[in-house]
Amino acid sequence: MFSLKKCLQSLKGGLGGSWKFLLPALGLSGFILMLGAVDKMDSRIEEKCEVLQVDVSACASACAMPSHVDLSSGNFPIQRSEAEWRARLTELQYKVAREQGTERPFQNLYHDNKAIGLYRCIGCATPLFSSTDKFDSGTGWPSFSKPIDARTLGEHRDESYGMIRTEVHCAVCGSHQGHVFPDGPGPSGLRYCINSASLEFEPADSVEAIVELVQQWYGASAAKDR
Ligand SMILES: [Zn+2]
Repeated sequence: MFSLKKCLQSLKGGLGGSWKFLLPALGLSGFILMLGAVDKMDSRIEEKCEVLQVDVSACASACAMPSHVDLSSGNFPIQRSEAEWRARLTELQYKVAREQGTERPFQNLYHDNKAIGLYRCIGCATPLFSSTDKFDSGTGWPSFSKPIDARTLGEHRDESYGMIRTEVHCAVCGSHQGHVFPDGPGPSGLRYCINSASLEFEPADSVEAIVELVQQWYGASAAKDR
């Protein structure tokens, strides 16, 4: 889109330089009409840019939390019995999500997944990460520069294995996701190192489709309670 904008700017710039030749050819009114058309094209491209620059996180944080998700109570809003967790999750998913485990690098489902889509919590389907924030960290685990909504990704100081790290988990059901480190490449400077076993990927056709899926979670959950 930027090349298109640049192209348009150069076209307008070019017109500025060549108006002396275009003016006699088109007549004054034709020339004015043409400039108007170029301006209209410019505004249409601006609109398109806004759509393409859709920020999934901004869309999510603008939504109110679903009414069944009360994050202020101190407890995870979705609670399941051990039997329910065992029935819902595979052995690996249970070990990682419910017992703070770590799956093997490179030998997991999504570390190399480059498809467009949404990564939901394996424990409760809350949208946690977007493919638009995914990058190749070379670590062998799916890595993201930010969560979709900071409200739904809880953090906890983790001092296990003699290291001080920041553990991250789904704030809705408590499922362990991974850790966040301050060495990310993006503007946030953060690297969310997440286990594939804690995620379920839902493919989408476009970034706009991801936003729709995210908004459905916020809206549909609220609608369910009405
Ligand atoms: Zn969850």
